[in-house]
Amino acid sequence: MSNHSIKIRKIFFLNSIIFILVSYMLFVASLLKNESSLFKANKITVDVSLSALTEPPIYLKVISTILFFHDVYLHKETLVVANSHRSEHTVIIPLRTLFINTLVDLVAPIAALFVVLLTSITCTTLINIKKYSSKLKPACQKVDALLKSFDDNHQEMNNEGELIYLETALDHLKKQTANHKAHREEEDICDKLTKLLDRHAYMDHISREIEISTKTGRKSGLLFVDLDGFKRVNDSFGHSFGDEVLIQVSERLRSVIRSQGLEFKETSLDLEYNLARLGGDEFSIFVQELTSSEEAIRIASNVLQELERDFILGNKNIKISASIGIAIYPDSAATPNALLQMADVAMYRAKAQGRGVYRIYTPEMGSKMRRYHYLLEEIRLAIDSNNFSLNYQPIIHVDGYTISYFEALARWHHSSEGYITPSEFIPIAEDSNLILELGDWVLDEACRQMASWYNAGMKKSRISVNVSGVQLKHRSLYSWVMSSLSKTGLPASSLMIEITESCFIEASKDIVVELEKLRAEGIMIAIDDFGTGFSSLSLLADLPIDILKIDQLFISKAMKDIKYKKILCSIVSMAEQLELKVVAEGIEQIDQLDLLKSLGVAYIQGYLISRPQPSNYVGKKIFCQNLSILAQTGTGVWEPEESRGVSLF
Ligand code: C2E
Ligand code: MG
Ligand code: MG
Repeated sequence: MSNHSIKIRKIFFLNSIIFILVSYMLFVASLLKNESSLFKANKITVDVSLSALTEPPIYLKVISTILFFHDVYLHKETLVVANSHRSEHTVIIPLRTLFINTLVDLVAPIAALFVVLLTSITCTTLINIKKYSSKLKPACQKVDALLKSFDDNHQEMNNEGELIYLETALDHLKKQTANHKAHREEEDICDKLTKLLDRHAYMDHISREIEISTKTGRKSGLLFVDLDGFKRVNDSFGHSFGDEVLIQVSERLRSVIRSQGLEFKETSLDLEYNLARLGGDEFSIFVQELTSSEEAIRIASNVLQELERDFILGNKNIKISASIGIAIYPDSAATPNALLQMADVAMYRAKAQGRGVYRIYTPEMGSKMRRYHYLLEEIRLAIDSNNFSLNYQPIIHVDGYTISYFEALARWHHSSEGYITPSEFIPIAEDSNLILELGDWVLDEACRQMASWYNAGMKKSRISVNVSGVQLKHRSLYSWVMSSLSKTGLPASSLMIEITESCFIEASKDIVVELEKLRAEGIMIAIDDFGTGFSSLSLLADLPIDILKIDQLFISKAMKDIKYKKILCSIVSMAEQLELKVVAEGIEQIDQLDLLKSLGVAYIQGYLISRPQPSNYVGKKIFCQNLSILAQTGTGVWEPEESRGVSLF
């Protein structure tokens, strides 16, 4: 009960006591006065003998004592008051008459007293209410401000009924703080973008569940879901587009959890504990109780099916698949971390075996993971001990095999493993940023080699160096390239840089500026593997590029599919309009060359002409066999290897 209402009750109680006391005093006084005046008036008095009066019952005696008269008797069953001066005969008056007279006398004073006291109660109550209101108002305003901080739409208090308002507002506040607490708890353990459980909370959940599985002897399953080609989506359409895709993916995974009856919720929060975003484009699903591996396979197939449906974002339709690794407790691993790791290993196997598929972990798969870590260490050692080398592949003009330039390609001959392909070691070097050190060496070595060829007379040719996205991000391109040129003495006009299409798409404004500066120096820029990314064609107009290298995959498709052939034709004519040179990559067969020639492609690169070769091979070919041509043209001629026995023209 509030202080305010206690105070009002006190006032009421005190006033009632005063009213009763004063009324009592008035009544007694009036009663005594009436008694004596009635006896004096002698009008309604009756003379009786004392023997006719009997004592009244005891309770009437008590009442008469409270009312201050003692001479109350019964006379013929009527209560009477006797005169105090008594002899054998005495005078009496009926008690009823005495009371009626007294009550009549008291009506006016009691009514007046009642009014006075009522007014006093009302006034003090009103004063009190006002006093409390003025004290409550700031409290209400504070509660208002608090509520507003929780809810922008909160209605501010009106002027009436602060106490009632305060009570409801506090109730509201209690609810809001409870909601807020739950929300905060949820935020602490969930991924900000997708609102799925984060890795940390998910692992805690798996630990708890695995403990139960250990006790009960049940099996559990963990699915590691990784989207295929998500990086490409991000690169092509930007990160906010990629974020939208991730949100839609989480929604689809939530629906799988529901449809497969895998829900697990903690009571106070609305979070699904069996589904998590582990980071980037990696998600995971946990199955507490697994009756058989077929059940995990059924769930994985369901996930793949869900993710294979087109993603619709604005006016774009995107296709995304996923690779899934499955690990089963306790068959695959005995701890939550190991379980996740094994599912990850199985997922890598799924990726390697074609993407869009699932694989259940088997012990031999672990070796793939081990190889990754082994190679990572070996790359580090190879960089330190200078174990990389460069091969050079000519890019020739289709008329007369004149060498336009050479592409420098990194090679690694491992002491015990033998030749390790760039497609195996470059991604690991990129993942670990070791590409920065390796790329520094590649640029310096390529420039050094080209400078020596340049000095030997190859003045009209260039060397082209591949630069990865990691290098673009971490190296200040202009000063990095210019310092290598000045170190090696190679003229800028003898250098070209190749950047893959996907890196170009995500290139920031700063990178574009750096590229423009390089071009101004005379360095050429090529867009590599064109046709495999999702770049818009307007990119070609906007970017500072000179050469378009069409990916070999695109060319092999154009050989079989008329649509690709038509696109290829449009790309070539558009490049011509934009004054870009077109190079076709990976030409292995004569009919590919014929097709490209018919489409007007002037430059080709491929095994048909030459595989990438070491510098001494290139040196011999140019400087021993074609010296006179070199002297005339400033570059060499590279005819197809005779052993192949192909006739180009
Ligand atoms: P890329 O830049 O597109 O290089 C062309 C690749 O196609 C080379 O593969 C080359 O050997 C191969 N190739 C050329 N002609 C043919 C052909 O007729 N048929 C077939 N099947 N392949 C052909 P390689 O040397 O294995 O390099 C693969 C990729 O590794 C390169 O693709 C490039 O992206 C990357 N890479 C190689 N060296 C470096 C480097 O020093 N730095 C960076 N960042 N990446 C490099
Ligand atoms: Mg290249
Ligand atoms: Mg390429």
